[in-house]
Amino acid sequence: MNKKKISILGSTGSIGRQALEVIEKLNDKFEIIALTGGSNTELLNEQIKKFKPKYAYASDIKAINGAEPLSLDEICSDRENDIILVAVSGKIGLKPTLTAINNNIDIALANKETLVMAGDIVMPLAKQKGVKIVPVDSEHCAIHQCIKDITLVDKLIITASGGPFLRKSVNDMKNATVEEALAHPRWHMGKKITVDSATLMNKGLEVMEAHYLFNMNYDNIEVVVHPQSIVHSAIEYVDGSIVAQLGLPSMHIPIQYAITYPQRFEGIKSRSFSFSEIARLDFEKPDLQKFKALPLAYAAGREGGSAPVCLNASNEEAVFAFLKGEIKLFDIAEIVEQMMSGHRVIKNLSINDVFEADKEIRIKTKELIAKYTER
Ligand code: NDP
Ligand code: MG
Repeated sequence: MNKKKISILGSTGSIGRQALEVIEKLNDKFEIIALTGGSNTELLNEQIKKFKPKYAYASDIKAINGAEPLSLDEICSDRENDIILVAVSGKIGLKPTLTAINNNIDIALANKETLVMAGDIVMPLAKQKGVKIVPVDSEHCAIHQCIKDITLVDKLIITASGGPFLRKSVNDMKNATVEEALAHPRWHMGKKITVDSATLMNKGLEVMEAHYLFNMNYDNIEVVVHPQSIVHSAIEYVDGSIVAQLGLPSMHIPIQYAITYPQRFEGIKSRSFSFSEIARLDFEKPDLQKFKALPLAYAAGREGGSAPVCLNASNEEAVFAFLKGEIKLFDIAEIVEQMMSGHRVIKNLSINDVFEADKEIRIKTKELIAKYTER
């Protein structure tokens, strides 16, 4: 059988590194065309030495050793790729993803911001080009595994671990340090998504991601807190029957599922858990007073047009500011709320409109953040 030709955007990140572990295990199934990093060229060069891609990208292209430097966009224009794993973080994922789709290359999508910013453009384009977009995000991957016929599905039930502040008071959360916000109880991820998980903005972004991926109304997407992270998500069919996907928390499995789809291999097999040994599975409603980001995301999603772009850009800038110690954790949702209320929503955006809106919102968010830092 021919090897599947794959490129990984963000191979030095949390998802990218785990993807390489999957590929190492399935080394007779994959050929790596390109690997890309940002500032961690040391790790990228180690990966190049080990996996021997033809091409590579890093913020400092001169520091790349052993592969031909190419931009993310150039990599995604190379039709030699059968699939591209988009595992960069934040807005930088959107443009290369569109380029790959335009070149008929299938996508394993970890970068949820791509759909939040431009799901209305990305999904129809993929459909038109006959390109598969398989989600890596564990909840969406779970839903993807549950669905046989989307037209018979009434509701998506997305689970959330609740993050490090689930059992903490609003006050604890207000005074949280960067370290506390980064101490996620279940998942070890990149910093941006870990902060998003602490505020539950991650779940909000995932609700939008699910809306676009599965073409589901916001009224029919429910978020439920499930601290054990065993049920990765569920769907409800029109007859009320619920199908869920379960497993021990591990990103290797969704990554492996997405890059090998529609096939399935043992690969990095998850340790199976025993139903009889699991004492209990808990479910509860999210506390929307503590986690204001979640209703904000629903509102932005329902509004549509440039509202999700505004939510995403203001959140990303606020998260960066929090990580730099410029604002408090609770300020993130407040800043996003202020940006949303001052935002004049534009409908039917072209991709250039998306980038323009994104740029403008980031400038305004930084101005707002400056007022917080002066306080
Ligand atoms: P990381 O921060 O760990 O990794 C991000 C990757 O992007 C790194 O390879 C980084 O390179 C690269 N990168 C950063 N800036 C640039 C840039 N300017 N140009 C090119 N490359 C850049 O993030 P995660 O792996 O945690 O997350 C990646 C995506 O997957 C996010 O969108 C996240 O929401 C999503 N996701 C992640 C999950 C997880 O478990 N981690 C779960 C579900 C979704 P470098 O490190 O070399 O600077
Ligand atoms: Mg997720």
